[in-house]
Amino acid sequence: MSRPDTHYTTGARDDGDQADGVVIRSTGSWYDVRVGEDVIPSKVRGKFRLRDDVDTNPVAVGDRVTVRLNEDRTGFITEIHERTNQLSRRAAGRRVGRESVIIVNIDFVWIIQSARMPAPNPGFIDRVLVTTEAHDIRAGLVLNKMDLLRKSDREAFESFRALYEGLGYPVLATSAETGRGIQTLREQLQGRTSVLTGPSGVGKSSLLNVLEPGLDIKTADVSEKTRKGRHTTTYAALFPLSGGGYIADTPGIREFGVLHVEPWELSHYFIEFETHLEHCRFPTCTHDHEPDCGVKAAVDAGDVDARRYRSYLNILDSIRRGEHDVGR
Ligand code: GDP
Ligand code: ZN
Repeated sequence: MSRPDTHYTTGARDDGDQADGVVIRSTGSWYDVRVGEDVIPSKVRGKFRLRDDVDTNPVAVGDRVTVRLNEDRTGFITEIHERTNQLSRRAAGRRVGRESVIIVNIDFVWIIQSARMPAPNPGFIDRVLVTTEAHDIRAGLVLNKMDLLRKSDREAFESFRALYEGLGYPVLATSAETGRGIQTLREQLQGRTSVLTGPSGVGKSSLLNVLEPGLDIKTADVSEKTRKGRHTTTYAALFPLSGGGYIADTPGIREFGVLHVEPWELSHYFIEFETHLEHCRFPTCTHDHEPDCGVKAAVDAGDVDARRYRSYLNILDSIRRGEHDVGR
């Protein structure tokens, strides 16, 4: 007997309904796929695994997928949609070049800093920005603890803010304590997949608490602390926000570092250097010791901020010493 056409649309056992969803968690061989408000534990079909020989895992947290729904409320991932970006780490214990994709399709990385206690740290910020630029991920700054800002700090604060805003990175001023700026931050998170990253003590947990009470994320920096030196454990998960969108819990963004960046490439991720590169005598100029350097000339002329140039030299140094590519 030939199969009736309706076989594919009636939710029959072998070819059930299909739905699109987002992978919010991965537990080895199972993936939690969020479809609407439901979470469907799903497996990947064997043939997918064969299709990809570079990555250690065919599906990552953040993937938009099509699942075929089974009658027992589980699913089969039948399609992985195109990714906008991805963050990888070297797979533990694997030969060089083998990578493990930790999270994909990030819409925004927010670098959290505090106005005081601790003071903003340009070195931290610029390292994260190199990573986001290298991976084509949009980024911005959140300056928390604005209630602590003193009159005497205001000028330095405004200059700091102007620096990053001038580069095109949005800067939000918040206080988890007074509620200042929280609504603006909430609007920025709505409908997007966002990563919040920042050093210890700047108020990430406090901000999340105010933004979405009950969200049980052990924020990136806590993970950074517990994971330091333990490069075998990596995981990520997406936490749905009630207003739509997700907060990603990932290893700290800095842990991803920048894979495969050569010293001469680094300047391309300092976006304001770009227009000055053509004035360098050498195409592989690293802008530290070479003569006739367009970037150094721009720093001297005040067209490139000296703070950013200093960050650049620090990161360049890390790369040369082989530190930055393992992401610490
Ligand atoms: P995390 O390590 O980044 O998660 O930081 P926490 O959320 O644990 O906050 C560190 C400390 O800063 C805690 O004592 C918080 O109460 C305090 N804190 C957080 N946000 C603010 C803020 O906006 N203003 C002030 N004054 N204190 C804050
Ligand atoms: Zn140069």
